[in-house]
Amino acid sequence: MEFATFADRVAAIDAESADLEIVAHVRDLFEDAGDDLPVVARFVQGRVFPAWDSTTLDIGPNTCYEAIARAAGTNVAADDVEERLAERGEIGDVAASYDFGGQQGLGAFTGGGGDSTGSGDDLTVREVDDTLTELAAAEGAGSQDRKVDLLFGLFNRCSSSEARYLARLVLSEMRIGVGEGTVRDAIAEAFEVPEDRVERALQVSNDYGQVAQVARDEGVSGLDGIELELGRPVQAMLAQAGTVTDALEEWDEAGVEWKYDGARIQLHHDPGGQTRVFSRNMEEVTDALPEVVEFAAETLDEPVILDGEVVAIDEDGSPLPFQEVLKRFRRKHDVAKAREDVSVRPVFFDCLHAGGEDLLEVPLTSRHERLESVLAAGPDRDQDPAEVDGLSLLWLTDDPGEIEAIDADALAAGHEGIMLKNPDSAYSPGRRGKNWRKRKPDVDTLDCVVTGAEWGEGRRATFLGTFELSVRDGDELETVGKVATGITDEKLEELTELLDPHIAAEEGQNVELEPAVVFEVGYEEIQASPTYSSGYALRFPRFVGVRYDKDPEEADTLERLRNLQ
Ligand code: AMP
Repeated sequence: MEFATFADRVAAIDAESADLEIVAHVRDLFEDAGDDLPVVARFVQGRVFPAWDSTTLDIGPNTCYEAIARAAGTNVAADDVEERLAERGEIGDVAASYDFGGQQGLGAFTGGGGDSTGSGDDLTVREVDDTLTELAAAEGAGSQDRKVDLLFGLFNRCSSSEARYLARLVLSEMRIGVGEGTVRDAIAEAFEVPEDRVERALQVSNDYGQVAQVARDEGVSGLDGIELELGRPVQAMLAQAGTVTDALEEWDEAGVEWKYDGARIQLHHDPGGQTRVFSRNMEEVTDALPEVVEFAAETLDEPVILDGEVVAIDEDGSPLPFQEVLKRFRRKHDVAKAREDVSVRPVFFDCLHAGGEDLLEVPLTSRHERLESVLAAGPDRDQDPAEVDGLSLLWLTDDPGEIEAIDADALAAGHEGIMLKNPDSAYSPGRRGKNWRKRKPDVDTLDCVVTGAEWGEGRRATFLGTFELSVRDGDELETVGKVATGITDEKLEELTELLDPHIAAEEGQNVELEPAVVFEVGYEEIQASPTYSSGYALRFPRFVGVRYDKDPEEADTLERLRNLQ
């Protein structure tokens, strides 16, 4: 396809605002693209390379301005291009405003491969693709000059309309309203294949060009045959904010995991081949994270794609804040030195592929079992899951108390809180659906007086565990709930020491306390309830901390509780 034809079609799309019409234009474009279909399917989205490919053109706007200036004539400098950009606000308009063609020079003979005289020399989509691929590959000394030359060679052969879309393409500013959904629908319409099958193939391959071509040449069975490939990243499944209340209402049981405060990673490991690590945006970060590569080499003995988080840790292995991971994550130089300052460790929570089998459509619980067996490979196959290095534990429960305990443990261990996951759900790449929920932070917290407690059981028999909470109502204290915390032993010991002197009465495991200590607690909801003397109950209360600075007289009141409800 000639690049001029492509540019005309794209201009028509650019002028259209109705979604259905846009899909129809893209469909027609695909039908007419012939051998260039894979390239056209990417270009129309403003992509030069497939989404899974980390290759970039690696050119800044200045390189583009310089190439445009050179193609525009001897009297034009990159500064003029920038000035016009400031006036017009959009690089496509600027590029279209010059009269290109006929400029001689090195680039005119090297770029694009045509006869390069600028007139009557039709640029093709294929030539643009080849030249941009060559440009991306230019490396080392003189590579920036080479890039300008190549780009100049292209602009020099462009009409005004071609220049508009070439400039937008190379600066990733296509902006013609063609998103991923448009391309999916256009492929489905053009080649008469069901949208959901196109969608699946796109999710698995992250390659719009390949999917368009397979849909056209091989139909549905071809699409269904597209599988995950080691070394090709998949879009990460994303989470919504949500509450325990909703999770337990919608699912029989909730899958509960710790939420690690790090950076998302996707590990592709082939024991006989390569190990590659990708970011949440599918950018390759392998070289920045040698610990992850070493972990894979030591632990994994089958080909896998794992989803997880890389966390910065201190010398004791305790997690450090997210900012510390960032010091490591995209680092290109001095990685060994950076590693001495901050080390990282991976924690995996999902398994997308193992031993030749794609697992995206398998339920979470089965994927997690597979994950566990993959990570527990080697001599210790029968390990306790809690001992399996690099495994994020998944608890299944419908018991709110247990969820609170997991949440409290996660916070006490220095993590962010919990994730709630639908145990039956598939892995949906790129989706921010309801099947994964990060627990919403507390909207508000209450300062409650601790008026009772229970001695723990077994190993925790010498610690006070479940704490009764009350609010003030005039001179009285009225109960509103209990926090059953899964706080660490150290924390329980500290709280027991704090409360022990205030024990007023004991009966069995139950302890009555004089009002002395104030806890700050978060909650999801305040409900009217006959269970407690205040007439209200805190739904999913969680322990935030002790208000050492507050006396019981300063705790929150029943009136505030009513207002918050
Ligand atoms: P947010 O970045 O706040 O939208 O939260 C979602 C992110 O939490 C994910 O993209 C992961 O990077 C991270 N995360 C940490 N722990 C987990 C986990 N157990 N399961 C899923 N995502 C997790």
